[in-house]
Amino acid sequence: MFLRLINFIFPPRCSGCGEFLPLSAREPVCLRCLDEISSHELPPVEYGNCALISSALYRGAAKKLIKEMKFRNGRSCARTAARVMTDSLIKHGGSFLPDIIIPVPLHRTRKNERGYNQASLIAKSVCKILKLPFSASKLRRVRNTPSQRGLHPGERIKNVKGAFAVRGKLPANIILIDDVATTGATVNECAAALLKGGAKRVIALTFAKT
Ligand SMILES: [Zn+2]
Repeated sequence: MFLRLINFIFPPRCSGCGEFLPLSAREPVCLRCLDEISSHELPPVEYGNCALISSALYRGAAKKLIKEMKFRNGRSCARTAARVMTDSLIKHGGSFLPDIIIPVPLHRTRKNERGYNQASLIAKSVCKILKLPFSASKLRRVRNTPSQRGLHPGERIKNVKGAFAVRGKLPANIILIDDVATTGATVNECAAALLKGGAKRVIALTFAKT
């Protein structure tokens, strides 16, 4: 009731284009933006340690949705991203049967600054949809690396080298979740740690790719 009143006074707007949404809208984006997000099909990419499946290009509505996730509206944007990502996994994941879902970790200090890790937020939603266990404790960022933004591909690889470590026993098949991938250096380095820690196969799933 309270939510309905709030929606009446402040009608929800689409996180992609800013248009007003119908009061009954269940997604934080309008159908047109949702269509735009899912229309940029990206082929899976193979890296040394994992395959990467990304659902959308990091532009337009997809880019705005990720920005919204960071600044407000986190949970509902994460749910929408998770739904689109699950569709991509079903489409491109082949016979892969994941045992567990792990988010790309943020270093403790950066998590304290922001309050939460949006990769975690998305990963939890994917877990709910696929009915799989979630673990944020098995993969840790042991070194606080500077942001990858503005770095060349080679520098990105060097920047995250050795930044991740595994804690405890791992199951065979792992889905690694992040919001955006650029060169894939971060997910590939996470996957290296997971494989070293006993995993057999890792598929990285990101909402967007630049
Ligand atoms: Zn829209």
